[in-house]
Amino acid sequence: MFERVAILGLGLIGGSIGLAVAEHLPGIVTTGFDTDPAVRHRAAERGLTTTVCDTAAEAVNEADLVILCVPVGAMGEVARQIAPTLSHSALVSDVGSSKRTITRALAEALPGQAIIPAHPVAGTEHSGPDAGFAALFHHRWCILTPPADADPALVTELAAFWRALGAMVEVMDAEHHDRVLAVTSHIPHLIAYTIVGTASDLEQVTRSEVIKYSAGGFRDFTRIAASDPTMWRDVFLNNRDAVLEMLDSFLTDLALMREAIKAGDGESLFDLFARTRAIRRSIIELGQDDARADFGRADHG
Ligand code: NAP
Repeated sequence: MFERVAILGLGLIGGSIGLAVAEHLPGIVTTGFDTDPAVRHRAAERGLTTTVCDTAAEAVNEADLVILCVPVGAMGEVARQIAPTLSHSALVSDVGSSKRTITRALAEALPGQAIIPAHPVAGTEHSGPDAGFAALFHHRWCILTPPADADPALVTELAAFWRALGAMVEVMDAEHHDRVLAVTSHIPHLIAYTIVGTASDLEQVTRSEVIKYSAGGFRDFTRIAASDPTMWRDVFLNNRDAVLEMLDSFLTDLALMREAIKAGDGESLFDLFARTRAIRRSIIELGQDDARADFGRADHG
């Protein structure tokens, strides 16, 4: 197992990794860095990592695992910053929500370095150094996307690290990851951002009515649409191809729904709603949600 883990970016995900390592792998020393001095200060107060460093170079010095926990668009820049001080034997990983462009950016910035990208499919709509908690990864999937020439022993070691933090691990290639996440995460966020924007721009219904009468459906969308703007801008810019492919499928299905409503075709509407209800039941049976409104998004110990 790794002895010294550097975490770059001390927000929700970086902070949660630091806290989870302290809880589950107390033998590991963690070092952290964030560009924002206020974040570094708060991270030190909360003890998100064993040490909070003033530079990225200092944080990665002697680390045998370096995890980049910054927005997707900043991954390449951070990798270039640490290149001169990184140990040649260190494994570099990340937690970014899209994988193809990050894999390319890391390989370009760190030629010859062992790199295994990862994506813990766990998160909340909160961000920053106060948002993290140790149990964030419990019973959630972490997807590893090793390049074809990755050392299998390092893949096994990184998988063991994530399992120790409570996650379940799956391995797939970056392209497949980006397709799967486009449909399970990126398009749902795009729909939430759009519907909340549409509702607030309506002329026939005032914004205060939308807020006052927000029933379950709209309220749930607003939670998703409150997610970090920087993170999600970068996700859509970096997973463009898979998002556009899935968006086209969604628009086709949406047009069919529109036609069914227009034609008074209750049977088509009922059939779809019955099918989607079964998918919800499967998610609950697999332990990926339950009746709690904050399932997976709060520290229940
Ligand atoms: P976050 O809470 O905003 O934390 C990111 C931190 O990185 C911020 O403090 C940010 O500082 C800092 N940062 C930005 N550029 C940096 C740089 N060049 N060097 C060092 N620190 C830098 O975001 P997060 O939710 O933890 O997301 C981090 C990564 O995890 C993203 O790639 C995201 O795609 C991925 N992810 C997120 C979720 C989720 O649900 N949130 C789930 C899975 C994976 P500033 O605020 O000053 O820019």
